[in-house]
Amino acid sequence: MNRQFQSSPGGRPLRGLFVSGTGTDVGKTVALAALLRACLKAGVRVRPVKPVQTGVSGPDDARGDAAVYAAAVAGLGNAVAPATLRRFVMPASPHLAAGREGVHLDVESLRAAVLRHWEGDEDAQGLLLEGAGGLHVPLNDSEDMLDLMESLGLPVLLVGGNYLGGINHLLLSVEAVAARGLTLAGVILSDTQPVAREDEDTLAIRKDNEALLRRRLDERGAQLVLLPFEPDLHSEPRASLAWQALADVCAPLVETVRRACDPCAGEEAAARIEDMQERDRQSLWHPYTSATEPLPVFVMARSRRNRLALADGRELVDGMSSWWTAVHGYNHPRLTAALRRQAGRMPHVMFGGITHEPAVLLAERLLDLLPEGLDRVFFADSGSVAVEVALKMALQYQQGMGRKEKSRFLTPRGGYHGDTLGAMSVCDPVTGMHTLFRGVLAQQIFMERPSCRFDASFDPSCLDDARRAFEEHGHEIAAVILEPVVQGAGGMWFYHPAYLRGLAELCREHGALLIFDEIATGFGRTGKMFALEHAGVAPDILCCGKALTGGIMTLAATVCSQRVAEGICHGGQVFMHGPTFMGNPLACSVALASLDLLAGGAWQRQVAALESSLRTGLSPCADMPGVADVRVLGGIGVVETEQPVNMAALQAFFVQRGVWIRPFNRLIYLMPPYVSHAEDIARLCDAVRAAVMEKKI
Ligand code: PMP
Repeated sequence: MNRQFQSSPGGRPLRGLFVSGTGTDVGKTVALAALLRACLKAGVRVRPVKPVQTGVSGPDDARGDAAVYAAAVAGLGNAVAPATLRRFVMPASPHLAAGREGVHLDVESLRAAVLRHWEGDEDAQGLLLEGAGGLHVPLNDSEDMLDLMESLGLPVLLVGGNYLGGINHLLLSVEAVAARGLTLAGVILSDTQPVAREDEDTLAIRKDNEALLRRRLDERGAQLVLLPFEPDLHSEPRASLAWQALADVCAPLVETVRRACDPCAGEEAAARIEDMQERDRQSLWHPYTSATEPLPVFVMARSRRNRLALADGRELVDGMSSWWTAVHGYNHPRLTAALRRQAGRMPHVMFGGITHEPAVLLAERLLDLLPEGLDRVFFADSGSVAVEVALKMALQYQQGMGRKEKSRFLTPRGGYHGDTLGAMSVCDPVTGMHTLFRGVLAQQIFMERPSCRFDASFDPSCLDDARRAFEEHGHEIAAVILEPVVQGAGGMWFYHPAYLRGLAELCREHGALLIFDEIATGFGRTGKMFALEHAGVAPDILCCGKALTGGIMTLAATVCSQRVAEGICHGGQVFMHGPTFMGNPLACSVALASLDLLAGGAWQRQVAALESSLRTGLSPCADMPGVADVRVLGGIGVVETEQPVNMAALQAFFVQRGVWIRPFNRLIYLMPPYVSHAEDIARLCDAVRAAVMEKKI
């Protein structure tokens, strides 16, 4: 798949290569300059760009890399002006040199500068971007040059020195590039020193470096070019011949650059995308779709922060957080690093008879976050399974307490708890398609949806139907299960938290357990860490999942009180559940990293900002024809339409406008990653307003 193109939002896809050294003084600038000359001579209009240059006092400073590029292309009629985007005087690492001048460098603004430069040079076919030293050269305390490379997504050309120790630096760099999901276009192995013919050991080392590297790169389909030491680069009049000699050596890489820059690659990519879509239609089944008449799917290639890049290079602003999960945005470096670390140690091990630090730490961290009275964690591998576990816990608890008749669940209409049979039985009977599974689904007891809006004053009569249900069925109700404050997939309904206090009271009176499904609402989405905090009510059992791992791995948890645990295990009983991937160490480690990020506390400010941007952006829809209601809570914005939307058409409309929004039924809703900037939220809301105004709903 065409993974190298990462477009600027709405602009033409960024093209070219990122050239990085394995360290300083390995010949990177000379290599890039020689490649530049080779490309220009072959008619490939690439522009050299140095995002951060240190050790120069001004644009014309001969110590800058731009001066080397200029020397390399001197005499070519079509020479180009090299660009340096940020310049600092101190000859040191970017973070240090910038810090000396009171400047804070960061990936976001450097990336924006690169894209601005690219958009401003319409004649360029591509950029040859040059890093600064090696891959992990810091830009600031937490971001390195490699993060900038990852954010741009271009194929990488590595330059390493051909000397003792050089192979180690090259292989480390090759690994680092691969670990970021970047394509390695090739390696230039450069002789940084002349070697005397009689220095046999050095010559042998160089030869071996080359041979070993060639074998390793062949496996990866990356090219290798040997760049000889050229003594005459600075001595006129031989310099131009010397540059040409190096350019000739780089000639085999010109084709690679051409491919990375070729807009025809777009046509090739389009054909590959269509092929992928067709093969998808032949072999896959997507959520809630027909296999024989599937809805269209978009091929996605890369993600970062709140952006998703389609395989055709278009970049979309994400409004969905991949179904409530990617709260910190995509590819968060702390989360992917946690994943890589744990993958190196122990990706998975069975949980029967074994424990491990990630699971123990995560259980403790969850219990610390949850209200008093929730004491024990059972890990599951998805939200639906966590709900099954909660239902089974409630049933085993009531059995353990000798109340076998308590074997049904009471739940409000409009709920959604998952797609497995037990979970489905407590989903809304209409939208949950109970008719399809009549006779198989357990017959549960339904009460009215909590009618009192979150933003209205509380009307106690909204509990009347719950009271009626308990009066009629109290003896057989094992537990009440519901999503606190926000009913998600069942209708995106926000109800008054006081309802939960009344319901908890009724459960207590009737010996029923209270189960909160916080799978969608947990981890800050409603403006509180858990939605139950709006009500100040602790349930007996709680399910969480989705954002638990920040959207990287599938993991869920069912947490219960000690009272429930003791009731279940009464008389030597055990709890009868044990998923194969229970407590998966990769997932637990990522979840710990995600909780660390949440512990930083920024989410509160971010979700509050989301709430206000969503309110501003969506409230004009309230007066538009075809709209039944607009509501916003925390990081969730909902436009409820009067009629069901045409999902495929509306989805295509949104993609056309550069946003990723997946409406369903009568709901167009937004729940963007917490890290989204206000301009991106405005863009999402603009698209929703346009859909309503242009009658796309
Ligand atoms: N409960 C709620 C409230 C949910 O929103 C979902 C998923 N949309 C589930 C349970 C089921 O989770 P999963 O899809 O991970 O099985």
